Amino acid sequence: MIALWSFKSFYYQERAIDLEIRAKLLAPEFSRLIQSNNYQDIQKKTVLLGNESLTRLTIILPSGKVLGDNKENPQKMNNHKNRPEIKQAMLVGKGLSIRYSNTIATDGMNFAMPLHAQGNIIGFIRTSTPLDTLQKALWSIYYKIAIGFIMLILMTIFASWWLSKSLVRPLEMIKVQAQRLAKGDFSSRVQLHSNDSLETEQLGQAFNEIAIELNQRIEIILNQRNEQEAVFSSMVEGVIAVDNNQKILRINQAAYKILKISAKNIEGNNLNTIIENKELRNLIAYALQQDSPVGQEIVVHSNADFEQVLFAQSAPLLDIYKNKCGTLVVFNDITKLKEFELQRKEFVANVSHELRTPLTAIQGFSETLIEFPDLAQEKRAYFIDVIHTHSIRLESIIENLLSLSKIEKETEIDEIDFINESITLAISNAIFLCKDKALKRNIKIILHNKEEIKFKHNSALIEQAIINLLNNAIKYSNGNSEITITVMKQNNDIKISVADQGSGIPEEHLTRLFERFYRVDKARSRQLGGTGLGLSIVKHIALAHKGTVTVSSEINKGSVFSLILPLKY
Ligand code: ADP
Repeated sequence: MIALWSFKSFYYQERAIDLEIRAKLLAPEFSRLIQSNNYQDIQKKTVLLGNESLTRLTIILPSGKVLGDNKENPQKMNNHKNRPEIKQAMLVGKGLSIRYSNTIATDGMNFAMPLHAQGNIIGFIRTSTPLDTLQKALWSIYYKIAIGFIMLILMTIFASWWLSKSLVRPLEMIKVQAQRLAKGDFSSRVQLHSNDSLETEQLGQAFNEIAIELNQRIEIILNQRNEQEAVFSSMVEGVIAVDNNQKILRINQAAYKILKISAKNIEGNNLNTIIENKELRNLIAYALQQDSPVGQEIVVHSNADFEQVLFAQSAPLLDIYKNKCGTLVVFNDITKLKEFELQRKEFVANVSHELRTPLTAIQGFSETLIEFPDLAQEKRAYFIDVIHTHSIRLESIIENLLSLSKIEKETEIDEIDFINESITLAISNAIFLCKDKALKRNIKIILHNKEEIKFKHNSALIEQAIINLLNNAIKYSNGNSEITITVMKQNNDIKISVADQGSGIPEEHLTRLFERFYRVDKARSRQLGGTGLGLSIVKHIALAHKGTVTVSSEINKGSVFSLILPLKY
């Protein structure tokens, strides 16, 4: 618009100058004609010169009367004294006006200047030109500008569309993918196209790199979490993590089991509302105040015949700023360990006791023999016999202990040889070795073995187990009785039973019979040369074959000991 305005003003200026030049050129001629009062010629000249110069030409007297005009009859024209260009010319020597002209029925530019003679104004010459050519020129420019404007709009629309396609749409796409990423879909990627702008391509690539990096990191974190979760849940140790306010953060399955917690999903609950054991609660409260690990044995779930013992160890939990934010308590159920320890202590005490008895006897009687060399021959013979008996007893205790520990050790390291052969050989050998002892007491050993049973076993061990059972049956039977050995298949097992018609065993002893050195009647056992280890050896031989040993008994009627061993080991 500014250009248009400039153009219009330039055009007006040019036309004004043009009109002025024409007026100045024609002025002398008309001054001369007015001076000669040749009004007739003025009209003719006006028409002639005006038409030739393609200018509307008007000659006016100072009174305003029109003398000549090439476009109108001067007689019919109004007084022109008050025309603005004339008034201005009268005042300043030249006048210019742009106004609508009825004569030419359009806007026109009028230039007027006075005509002089001897210093006086004798008239005015006015040159006019219609401005419609300018309007036409301007309309043409308007038209072109409008076309240009429309073109510009169309180009802008196209450019916006193109921009949207090449810039906004990829950005939209990135936004959609970013939203997917934010929702946890780490597979989201921006599709890059060959026509994408460089910036879009770089942005898309940067986004994809972030997504890939995030995906990898999340995968690593998930894998680590799964691994930790697997370790955490498969641990046999109970683990509880609590925060500074004793709120349970994590607890594993083992802890649920060890502490016998029946409630589910207790994470988030206060420790004191979940864990009944006061000792453990106190330990956790104490551990929360410490900066270093704390360890303690704790007795939980104790009653008359059962006591569960835990070893709890705490470690401070630190947040990412290394500030203490709670404690982690790991506890092991050491009840079994404690039991083993107790058993071991009892065993050592028993062994010491069992060994001390014959040793004291041997020591005592041998010292008497040394101190009193003149003892009567009879007494000496008796003392020597006692020493001999106790040394045999000592030997059998040591032998039994050795064989027990050998069976245990070999079972543990899987060193026992198992051969698939008939059981008959082991049983007949055992009967053969015990036959004399039985005969001496008039006890008959009867074997019921309907079929030849072959299975994987260690013949020497089974023979020893049956010897031990037979020896007991002979020892604890009255004379003139029978011992029956029955061999049979039972489901997938072989069952070897040794039944006697002896004294029987009171029921309250049955569960403890297979413990080391356990005897119903210690004095009787010792008197009969027992060590208290025979049945314990039988039990371990059964265990070495992945089997069991059972007992049933009736007072004064007899006892039945059965070895039950799997046919397929
Ligand atoms: P011991 O050397 O004392 O016989 P064992 O371990 O072989 O030791 O047996 C443990 C105890 O079981 C014996 O002391 C005895 O009291 C009891 N016992 C074992 N077998 C029989 C049986 N057949 N009849 C009665 N009591 C038995």
